[in-house]
Amino acid sequence: MIAKNKFDVIIIGGGQSGLAVGYYLRRTNLSFLILDSDEMPGGSWQHAWQSLRLFSPAQWSSLPGVMMNGGGDYYPTRDEAINYIRSYEEKYTLPVRRPVQVKSVVREREMYSVETSAGLYEAAAVVCATGSFQNPFIPEIEDRNLFGGRVLHSSQYFTPEGFKGKRVLVVGEGNSGAQILAEVSAVTDTLWVTQKEPRFLPDHVDGRYLFDAATQMYEAKMLGKAYQPLSLGDIVMVPSVKAARERGVLQKNVRSFDRFTSTGVAWSNGKEDKADVVIFCTGFKASLLFLEPLAILTADGKVETEETKATKISGLWLVGYGNWTGFASATLIGVGRSAKRTVDEIVKEFGT
Ligand code: FAD
Repeated sequence: MIAKNKFDVIIIGGGQSGLAVGYYLRRTNLSFLILDSDEMPGGSWQHAWQSLRLFSPAQWSSLPGVMMNGGGDYYPTRDEAINYIRSYEEKYTLPVRRPVQVKSVVREREMYSVETSAGLYEAAAVVCATGSFQNPFIPEIEDRNLFGGRVLHSSQYFTPEGFKGKRVLVVGEGNSGAQILAEVSAVTDTLWVTQKEPRFLPDHVDGRYLFDAATQMYEAKMLGKAYQPLSLGDIVMVPSVKAARERGVLQKNVRSFDRFTSTGVAWSNGKEDKADVVIFCTGFKASLLFLEPLAILTADGKVETEETKATKISGLWLVGYGNWTGFASATLIGVGRSAKRTVDEIVKEFGT
């Protein structure tokens, strides 16, 4: 099949990461196109739960070129993040084609063929920016098929509607677990199940601390100095989580259960507990299955990279997947650095 569209660079994914790469590419003479499977702009923010608050204040949630409104002490809402990303795409008239689902990427004669739901594209370089929201992770737990209640992942949670009067277990000790627990516990009986004791940031400290610490780690790494790995899972005390603490909800957390029963869950000491709903806030894995034909995916679905550049194949970059593609790269403020470095490398390899 002859490729319908040929570009110097194709970016797969039009969320914040893909747009940040586009922001820097538009300053070059390279032809590029962003392919995105969503109907609307905004990336996976559009699919997060309604009351989600960013854990980073507006001033620390900005993509290159445009500050998010709200300053240093305001935690933007999910809708504000969506509107910010949509206006960013418009402001820079970034070339996004949607909805286009990328199905596979193959390499032929030093070029990439990108097969999609809208036909075939060809590019000298490909940047993956597909995030991880489309690949939610739920741990394997014994006897899950016995359980007569409802099991969902945080990516399927939208509001606490429908949970009233139910016994709800929230599994996971990160920001998602804390914020969903805070909201559901206000309408019904909950239990927080965590692998380890949850870690809370001090009230006056917020997402910028995480970014500052990630920057110090990044700089130490660049200088070849030792650095203390940072847990990006520390919980930011956004208003709803603080209110849950005042209600004594956060303190009621237990370690992970071993198996499901028909009416709930059971621990290794034989103790059982009733549950009607179990919400897994257990994160995501990179969504990169379309790269399978390149035979470069690792056992955990990632790609070996040096920062964002794939090491096992030329002309391929990965942006926005978290620390394995650059410190804090899976955050609004952190992805700009990865995007700029990626475009600098593309220009070096393919000219301006
Ligand atoms: P996404 O937003 O997921 O965008 C990826 C895009 O790729 C999507 O539009 C999708 O449609 C598209 N795509 C996927 N697969 C394909 C395919 N095969 N073909 C074509 N298109 C495809 N970060 C912060 O900075 N501050 C916060 O407070 C914060 N809070 C968070 C809270 C939650 C609950 C979560 C999950 C994350 C949070 N993050 C936060 C992290 C991060 O900012 C978001 O996950 C962000 O959405 C990542 O942007 P992205 O562009 O990398 O991925």
